[in-house]
Amino acid sequence: MPPKQVQCIVCGEMINKRQTLAYENGRACRKHEEVIEAIEEMREKIKMEKQGIEAENKLAIISLVSMIRAFHTIRGIPMIVLYEHVKRTHPDLLSDIKAEIAKRGEKMSQDEVTTSLLTYGALIKKVSKGAE
Ligand SMILES: [Zn+2]
Repeated sequence: MPPKQVQCIVCGEMINKRQTLAYENGRACRKHEEVIEAIEEMREKIKMEKQGIEAENKLAIISLVSMIRAFHTIRGIPMIVLYEHVKRTHPDLLSDIKAEIAKRGEKMSQDEVTTSLLTYGALIKKVSKGAE
């Protein structure tokens, strides 16, 4: 079977499909500058989107890890219950969260508790002042 021929939407030539790429609403030769540029742009866009998602995930992991350790340390909620919650709300982040908690410890240190209570207290004061 001969290779499939398609028409390039840039130069109009019939060309072996394998030498073309999807471009706008058809196919075009790989050699055209505008095609190369469009591919480069697309790659860049995908890369930026991926970086954005990674940054969002990192933030979510940081805040979830803090929350889990606080609930476990201060309110005594068992880790298994907290992990069950993450499994439902952020299943894709569960393994990263577990790894981060393994690194930092399930329980917050006394220093961490003090710092977070002070921060929280300052925040409450600020919020209630704003409400007056
Ligand atoms: Zn062409």
